[in-house]
Amino acid sequence: MAEKKSIKFSYVLNAVKCMACAACELECKFNGIYIDDTANYAINPVNCTRCGKCFRACPSGAISKVDVAA
Ligand code: SF4
Ligand code: SF4
Repeated sequence: MAEKKSIKFSYVLNAVKCMACAACELECKFNGIYIDDTANYAINPVNCTRCGKCFRACPSGAISKVDVAA
């Protein structure tokens, strides 16, 4: 009953909690943080490597880790 190591996760940015401090954008080395059409910070899942730097840098808890169905 070994658990598969294929659990996928991603980081999501909650624009309601975000105070636009730009810490995540400065931390991200992969161009994963961008400003979307509604002028809110958002994560681009294509560029994001799930390194977690933005998650750790965010002072307002706006970035969270979520499981993604494989
Ligand atoms: S998890 Fe890493 S790569 Fe993804 S948006 Fe955050 S800092 Fe960028
Ligand atoms: S670090 Fe957090 S509060 Fe700052 S811009 Fe990014 S998501 Fe928003």
